[in-house]
Amino acid sequence: MALDHPLRDYGLKSERLLWPEKAPGAFETEVAELETKVGLTTLQKAVAWSQTKSMWPDTFGLACCAIEMMSIVSSRYDIARFGMEAFRSSPRQADLLIVSGRVSHKMAAPLRQIYDQMLEPKWVIAMGACASSGGMFNNYAIVQSVDKVVPVDVYVPGCPPRPEQLIEGIVRLHEAVQAGVPPAYELRSVAS
Ligand code: SF4
Repeated sequence: MALDHPLRDYGLKSERLLWPEKAPGAFETEVAELETKVGLTTLQKAVAWSQTKSMWPDTFGLACCAIEMMSIVSSRYDIARFGMEAFRSSPRQADLLIVSGRVSHKMAAPLRQIYDQMLEPKWVIAMGACASSGGMFNNYAIVQSVDKVVPVDVYVPGCPPRPEQLIEGIVRLHEAVQAGVPPAYELRSVAS
């Protein structure tokens, strides 16, 4: 499904930060303030809010980036503040697949199987240069971006990305979900 409107139409805050002049209009701001003060919301917004407060990641690590991913559950980074400390061992109980590390061609099929076993809605973060683009491994053994296997919602750059960068990616994903942006599998297929 193609995205009919630019992301800012969905209220994505990060794009507004990049484009300050695209900030919401006075009317939109007043309505948002009124909603906050009176406590009004819609069922869709309430569901989106709850999804971002209980987005359980799948226990899935591939390479060095996985060590950085593991540290986000520690007290220093405290992913529990988002209700996300419960890494699930079964893909059927997980909402988020963090692809942390390089994906070899041998691992592509199991990765896709895990993704297919996750229930919808589900999201994917490509963590690090290897998962996003193959990184330094421009060779026959490594898939040159995991978006050739599964649709990716957020790319986190770095080699390895620090835990703070991964948390930044998670916060951006939460913003998108709360703004009503559909998951990547509804927006695009895998790259060819
Ligand atoms: S991006 Fe860097 S740290 Fe992450 S898997 Fe690749 S080589 Fe390892």
